[in-house]
Amino acid sequence: MNVTKPSYYDEFHCLASSCPDSCCKEWDLDVDEASAAYYRTLPGDLGDRLRQALRDTENGTVMVMRDGRCPMWREDRLCRIQAELGEEALCRVCDRFPRLRHDYGDFVELGLELSCPEAARLILSTPPAPPIRFQEQGAGEADYDREAMAVLLETRETALALLREYTDPADALTLLLFYGCQAQEELDGGEREDFDPAATLSIAATLTLEPDMAGFLDFFRGLEILTEKWRGLLCQSHTVALPPQTVALARYLVERYWLQAVSDYDLMSRVKFILISCLLVGSLGGDYTEAAQLFSKEIENDADNVEAILDAAYALRAFADGKLLGMLQKGREN
Ligand code: SF4
Repeated sequence: MNVTKPSYYDEFHCLASSCPDSCCKEWDLDVDEASAAYYRTLPGDLGDRLRQALRDTENGTVMVMRDGRCPMWREDRLCRIQAELGEEALCRVCDRFPRLRHDYGDFVELGLELSCPEAARLILSTPPAPPIRFQEQGAGEADYDREAMAVLLETRETALALLREYTDPADALTLLLFYGCQAQEELDGGEREDFDPAATLSIAATLTLEPDMAGFLDFFRGLEILTEKWRGLLCQSHTVALPPQTVALARYLVERYWLQAVSDYDLMSRVKFILISCLLVGSLGGDYTEAAQLFSKEIENDADNVEAILDAAYALRAFADGKLLGMLQKGREN
């Protein structure tokens, strides 16, 4: 089986007790069946703590947070399960986080989640490089539309090439939006056409509208919010800034979401999701890596929030193409 992973994938090491955020905060943790059963058999203080913390729900077993953090978190910020029983005793989610695995049946793509501060640092600071390719044992069946996947793989390469070539974030994101439209037409069965970046940037300048910053941020204030920090960031007054890491964020999002259009043939709403996400992070102010990591925790890791953005990508006035181009223009000026 063909497997790819980003160039920085193997550089990841958990910051453990020095982590500025920690994945053991704010989320109720899904515990896989085998780990939950094992935890419930443990003797002594650890077993008692686990039995108290585990709760069965209709969707499986969760570890319920206490005071906003995992009850297995010790005062020294280390995990009690790992400290007392070793890494092999961690449940599947904790063992894998922040590693991602997209399994398409006959090929696999690995990645890191932006919601981990150390992964975010690697994702946003590593220069673009081709993915590492290797073989894994076993050969599964492709469980997707082959023709659509071929278009998506090829157009994703072009999108990533644009992000490598155009390092000015406003230009790069403008081109991504327009190329996304063209790639959608190809996915819908249209002829492949040449893409002319210079002509596209000229056309984009004529389509730019006054942005609706208030409407843009209001939408996110109406989504599910996990942390007070995020609510605070969304409620400050904002201008858009597009630092150079914006292009690295766009690259991560393209790598992660582009192929997902094979499930419903809707590439364009994902392209807009990528653009909207980059503009959102650029609107939050403060440390860019921290803002991107928090965005991932609040938005990317909440399927309902992602779905709400995909739905609003076409419908919300503040997300109209001309208004997003207007935000990019403001970002260029700031
Ligand atoms: S968020 Fe990342 S660095 Fe921090 S504790 Fe979790 S895996 Fe380690």
